[in-house]
Amino acid sequence: AMLALAGCGSGRDGDSGSSGGGDAKGFAANSLIGVALPAKTSENWVLAGDLFSNGLKEAGFQADVQYAGASTTVADQQAQITAMTTKGAKVIVIGATDAAQLATQVAAAHAAGAKVIAYDRLITNTPDLDYYVAFDNFKVGQLQGQALLDGMKAKKPNGPYNIELFSGSPDDNNAGVFFNGAMDVLKPEIDKGNVVVASGQKDVKQTAIQGWKAEGAQARMDQLLTSTYGSKELDGVLSPNDTLARAILTSVKGAGKPIPVVTGQDSEVESVKSIVKGEQYMTINKDTRNLVKETINMVKALQAGNAPQVNDTKSYNNGSKVVDTFLLPPVAVTKANVVEAYANDPKLAPLTK
Ligand code: BGC
Repeated sequence: AMLALAGCGSGRDGDSGSSGGGDAKGFAANSLIGVALPAKTSENWVLAGDLFSNGLKEAGFQADVQYAGASTTVADQQAQITAMTTKGAKVIVIGATDAAQLATQVAAAHAAGAKVIAYDRLITNTPDLDYYVAFDNFKVGQLQGQALLDGMKAKKPNGPYNIELFSGSPDDNNAGVFFNGAMDVLKPEIDKGNVVVASGQKDVKQTAIQGWKAEGAQARMDQLLTSTYGSKELDGVLSPNDTLARAILTSVKGAGKPIPVVTGQDSEVESVKSIVKGEQYMTINKDTRNLVKETINMVKALQAGNAPQVNDTKSYNNGSKVVDTFLLPPVAVTKANVVEAYANDPKLAPLTK
């Protein structure tokens, strides 16, 4: 934080000697800022690209926003980050395609004098990552686990409940954090026998869906229904996001089974509609507008030579260091609070009326 200096003349902000611990250098106000996003595996990424382009330009920066392609994601993103570094970007914001495959590019960016911010997804095994900004991923998982229990209880007051578990792409650091958050809530119930993972597939590796692909989730659900739910009732499914939730629902409907309680995340248009209809049970609201705004605030602070605001300096050890992090609060949304939850979202509010 800056110390207020008595008598400091207005307009003279070049002397940043009082910056509290940050890099007191800053950079030109119209500098290039790079934003490297993953493939468009969910609506939040599409939104983020537009918001970064517009928001960075409004703040006076030049913006270079790139997406990794759908199939060669890792190589694409590595090349994009390298190109941003070569072009002299002062900050590179990265939504990683693969958490563990960017250390070389991040090191080069850092060596060239750029600051690197991990956006939404952590980048692992590099000491050169400067900041992380995300919604509280562990909390997302806890909210999903709790909603799953609440939803099943509302339908059927007493267990045992049969459930299945799904997790996200293993190359995305968030996938494990979401899963651990959910298991923090579900494991005690599983241990008590009140909740039963009837297929026995409880390990994050058995439940993972490579690339967060809908097809993968639908195929796995088809298999589980055949192998395990011939006569058994399926009460609930832990799904880590909306794209996978809808694929799971498609599978269940295709098999002619009653709809179980299915969780989600991202507040995607089709999932919000599904919640209103009473099919998907819940989603998470992680307002992308706020996440991009916080990220741009970090960029502005760095431009001015100040230390960006962080609120978590212990949760995210990336294998090389504990990364200074700004976490935003996620919100659980079910049919019960869908109207309030999206009241100030011009895209989603009309869907709830
Ligand atoms: C994001 C989720 C998203 C998933 C798939 C995760 O890293 O945090 O919001 O559903 O990627 O795109």
